[in-house]
Amino acid sequence: MPSPMVRSASSNAAVSSTCKSHGITPREFRQLRDSAVAAQDTAYCPYSKFRVGAALLLGRTGGQDDEVGEDEDEGGEGQETDDNNNSNPNIVMGANVENASYPVGTCAERVALGNAVTRPGGGRRRRGAKDAASGGFGFGFRALAVATDVSPPASPCGMCRQFIREFCGMEMPVIMFDKKDQYLVLTVEQLLPSSFGPNDLPAPGSADNTQTA
Ligand SMILES: [Zn+2]
Repeated sequence: MPSPMVRSASSNAAVSSTCKSHGITPREFRQLRDSAVAAQDTAYCPYSKFRVGAALLLGRTGGQDDEVGEDEDEGGEGQETDDNNNSNPNIVMGANVENASYPVGTCAERVALGNAVTRPGGGRRRRGAKDAASGGFGFGFRALAVATDVSPPASPCGMCRQFIREFCGMEMPVIMFDKKDQYLVLTVEQLLPSSFGPNDLPAPGSADNTQTA
């Protein structure tokens, strides 16, 4: 497998290309980046000092009926500082939370996903939705951004890859930002190929699930 390409987030051409490939808008890309970077400030990491921020882009809701990805290209002129990302209803943030008992600590990606999955009024899997085509098992998450203070971009740990895989579509992009405003994008499938996930188990309560092993 060839090495994935690290690109500059300040390059409109690179961002536009990335967005077209992954079904998000340049505006959403920048909101994700800004939110992931902002989330780093909330990290509890007194032991490692390794601040990680994560930002998850939610599916569009009825009240957030904005433009569709491929057609939007605002050129990145002055847009990124216009939004208060901390209150963006389409983005859920998280950061790493460490513990004096080191293995107990939790990564930013899992905190963000946990926040999103358990958020009131919409985070839960919709009944009957096992729609991988729309982004994975009914949650509809569209992209995950991760920001760190290192370069090149750091990628999610193995445990987080499995955690992401539980809730997100295999084609969902995971966008990793480094301290130099460079980024790398890999899909969930690329991060965790040949993975084990919810579709490999019988649905809870199904006839298949009641059979004895
Ligand atoms: Zn992790």
